[in-house]
Amino acid sequence: MKYLKSLILVVFMFGFTVTSAAASVPGVDQSMKKGATKGIVSVSHPLAAEVGKKILEEGGNAVDAAAAIQLSLNVVEPMMSGIGGGGFMMIYNKAEDKITMIDSREIAPKNVNPELFLDEKGKPIPFSKRHTTGKAVGVPGTLKGVETALEKYGTMELAEVINPAIKQADKGIKVNWSMAKYIDENKQKLQNNEAAASVFLLKGQPLKKGDTLVQTDLAKTFKLIQKQGSEAFYTGEIGESMIKEVQKQGGTMTAEDLENYVVKEREPVKSTYRGYEVVSAAPPSSGGLTVLQILKLMEGYDVKKMGANSPEYFHYLTEAMHLAYADRAAYMADEDFYDVPKKGLLNETYIKERRALINSNRATAEIKEGDPWRYEGKEPALESTVKEENPIGQTTHFSIIDKWGNFVSYTTTIEQVFGSGIMVPGYGFMLNNEMTDFDAAPGGVNQVEPGKRPRSSMSPTLLLKDGQPFMAIGSPGGPTIIASVAETIMNVIDHQMPIQEAILTPRIYSAGYPTVRWEPGIDQNTRLELMAKGHVFEEKPEHIGNVQAVILDNETGKMYGGADNTREGTVLGVDRFFYKSKEPKEIKEEKKGPFILKVNGAVYPYTADQMKLIDGKPYIQSDKLLLGLGLIKSEDLETYKPDKKSYLPVITVANGAGFKVEWNEEKKEILLEKDSSDYDHPDDDEDGDIITN
Ligand code: GLU
Repeated sequence: MKYLKSLILVVFMFGFTVTSAAASVPGVDQSMKKGATKGIVSVSHPLAAEVGKKILEEGGNAVDAAAAIQLSLNVVEPMMSGIGGGGFMMIYNKAEDKITMIDSREIAPKNVNPELFLDEKGKPIPFSKRHTTGKAVGVPGTLKGVETALEKYGTMELAEVINPAIKQADKGIKVNWSMAKYIDENKQKLQNNEAAASVFLLKGQPLKKGDTLVQTDLAKTFKLIQKQGSEAFYTGEIGESMIKEVQKQGGTMTAEDLENYVVKEREPVKSTYRGYEVVSAAPPSSGGLTVLQILKLMEGYDVKKMGANSPEYFHYLTEAMHLAYADRAAYMADEDFYDVPKKGLLNETYIKERRALINSNRATAEIKEGDPWRYEGKEPALESTVKEENPIGQTTHFSIIDKWGNFVSYTTTIEQVFGSGIMVPGYGFMLNNEMTDFDAAPGGVNQVEPGKRPRSSMSPTLLLKDGQPFMAIGSPGGPTIIASVAETIMNVIDHQMPIQEAILTPRIYSAGYPTVRWEPGIDQNTRLELMAKGHVFEEKPEHIGNVQAVILDNETGKMYGGADNTREGTVLGVDRFFYKSKEPKEIKEEKKGPFILKVNGAVYPYTADQMKLIDGKPYIQSDKLLLGLGLIKSEDLETYKPDKKSYLPVITVANGAGFKVEWNEEKKEILLEKDSSDYDHPDDDEDGDIITN
């Protein structure tokens, strides 16, 4: 379970900073004395972490370790990433003092057009259908990306770093709780594909925790790669079989598409946050620019004073997200096709102009993209078209520092869990569905086009202090990646949390008004207070992202790390430092109350014991009702006190506060409606029984 440690409260009370006493960089506290000195990895699976640690131990650098971890993850976390997918590897190369991004994002085959995902009537094919066909598969880049990174920045050969993965695939690995859960959740998808079913299901039933997963075909594939390099994939028999399978499943990919795949080395996007430099993924990812926009918008507020996960912080954060995600939808896509206003989006005056749209007291319903091109003296390349977000996928992120001070921050994916659900028969790896990261409908900068890379949200990020990188961080989770990365950075820098706590502190995500996704551990009062401001919290919490980060204290040379608990996140230092996350508690269903309260259609999060039906009329615990409706109670309002708590009659209170009230006795639903513009301000209504907050 995610929680806030009391240490943080102590820090706030006495006003000293955790970092000043313990380290020269944020994210480290006194409890983390034993930093590693010879390299560190933070990975979502312990077996892949072991592989990375060993490479560092044996003298490999961060890029060698990254390559080995990626190949191992293809075996131990095959539903999240692998040679059938793509990714962005951010590298800090110490010798050249340079940060660069290896872009191995999937590419659209040449025989596609913007109507790829439309049905005969011109309507987008539903995501559930469009993501599991051959058309969803983009030309994979991961293997060539890993090979390129090794050639340019590594010290070892692909043939060496692939060894541990071969062993793991051949000998088998134990299925952990995280893999068992993902196999179970995707049973249907796997049952639909004979090759995948033969690996991940046993007599049609999902492999369970503790079962052994042997991947003979994948081991064979990796041995071919070991002998022939990436040629075995891009021009050899692996590719041939892949093309055959993609075409069989309705895709158009050809051998030529595969042969033409190009890795691009790109300059990352950069800005500053409270004096620290933040360097993140460039287009075709929207991740870096959107993370930076959120941080720049939040820089205008005293985030530290608001406090971690306070209602005030979440209010501004949600509004900042809405502004940034609106720009993301309108302007961010593959830069090789359409210019992205990278300067305009982060222009100081533009950010101020956007921040001025945030109302301190109410969620703003109408948030549209701004006009960042104005700050670059240009016109947008294409009209913006507002797009629906796909269901949230999962991928994987890992972070590394080696003993020389090189960093790798690598987010890598096959898009949804188990990607398209298509395994290449006889070769044992899953194919991505990255093509569905393009807009399903034509018209915007992110429409499907031949040779183009779909817009990503992946945000492998580096943080720098005085020009020196000190933290590598990132997360999976489709568009929620951006929120996870931005929030963890603010937890470290503003809320002064040590990295592990910064990762485990519950997060929120909201790409547009009014819905907010939230993690278990965000308290009811906070949610009620925010709902009173017009935000709508989803009825049930859900986990968001899976952050892996490492930190280097440049003054002491000590290295630290944090890993998330929604998988078996593991941090391993070469000489010392160990952390392994525990499985989070299951999210429990709340007990249903005797009725439901909805305000403007949103169900309010009252618990069963806070609601009473008295003589057939709905009552809610006084403080909770007032908080949720944004009201302050006057002295003379009668409360009902059957026990130690007091309750208020919902109908009377809501009427008094100017809501339109409908009590459906049969359905046991009380529906309140109020126009956003009708919300009063505190001093508007001094004489009333009830005044709005
Ligand atoms: N397809 C996603 C992206 O590139 C990554 C997969 C995920 O985590 O959802 O943004």
